[in-house]
Amino acid sequence: AKATGKSRCVVYSARDNGPPAHDISLEAAMFSAVREGEFLLYYQPIVSARTRKIEGFETLMRWKHPTLGMVPPARFIPIAETNGLINLLGAWALKAACVQLRQFEQAARRELYISVNISPRQFRSDKFLDVLDEALAISGMPGRQLVLEITEGTLMVDPAHAETILERMAGREARIAIDDFGTGYSSLAYLKRFPISVLKVDRAFIKDLPGSSKDAAICNAVLDLARHLDLSVVAEGVETEDQLGCLAERGCHYVQGYLTGKPMPPHVAIAALNDDMYE
Ligand code: C2E
Ligand code: CA
Ligand code: CA
Ligand code: CA
Repeated sequence: AKATGKSRCVVYSARDNGPPAHDISLEAAMFSAVREGEFLLYYQPIVSARTRKIEGFETLMRWKHPTLGMVPPARFIPIAETNGLINLLGAWALKAACVQLRQFEQAARRELYISVNISPRQFRSDKFLDVLDEALAISGMPGRQLVLEITEGTLMVDPAHAETILERMAGREARIAIDDFGTGYSSLAYLKRFPISVLKVDRAFIKDLPGSSKDAAICNAVLDLARHLDLSVVAEGVETEDQLGCLAERGCHYVQGYLTGKPMPPHVAIAALNDDMYE
């Protein structure tokens, strides 16, 4: 199996397992998809709420199946998490995304950052730190430009182990973002225990803004908490001007959502960066 910094995940194998993908389960199809290079990476802009300038990108995996079309990650990531394929796919995504960021930076002629989703199983894997080091080495990217998105659940299944991993990671300077913030564990104790840098506020708290006073209160509280703990906040799933306005007004620095850019293939992301330059 090969998971290098290439733009497609390709695994070379002498085996060829039988029937065409539409006849067999999604899980079986995934193994051939890896061999055939059907997994791709899309990139969604994370922008400044005030200027709308692109500050970074979140890496989002896509599976372009020859007959099923685009299979959503909500369907294939849980399967990959169960059968372990996530370690291979996740390693490839991390390396390819770091390499991709360098190309984005050349197009933009400024520093950007790249955010990569790390699944619970990948985070716990013995190989995780080696993969991280390899991603930084092959891309030549400084660790501080990398954000690893993990969920509250990933930290809290085994907090002691998570602590060890994060301690060992410290020298790399990669930042940790809490993905889907507010939807997992009710305790905030982990914010004290772990070196967190970014909170990504789940779309659940954004989608009814500005009308919902409860959601507005939750956003205010999260922004306030973040200010006091010196964390940055990214509001996820921003779809309307009203939502953006409401968040910017409350001092939210970063937003991500269909309003300011859907997940896109690399060449479209480069075009978006070029548009940014001439504004
Ligand atoms: P996530 O990490 O919370 O990613 C955000 C999801 O929200 C993405 O869905 C994105 O396309 C979607 N989104 C962005 N802006 C908007 C918006 O304005 N409105 C709405 N309705 N949705 C928006 P996507 O790409 O389908 O990914 C779903 C989930 O799959 C991700 O949720 C993440 O948990 C997982 N995933 C995706 N790529 C990877 C990967 O490379 N590794 C791992 N471990 N998980 C991944
Ligand atoms: Ca994410
Ligand atoms: Ca999220
Ligand atoms: Ca989510």
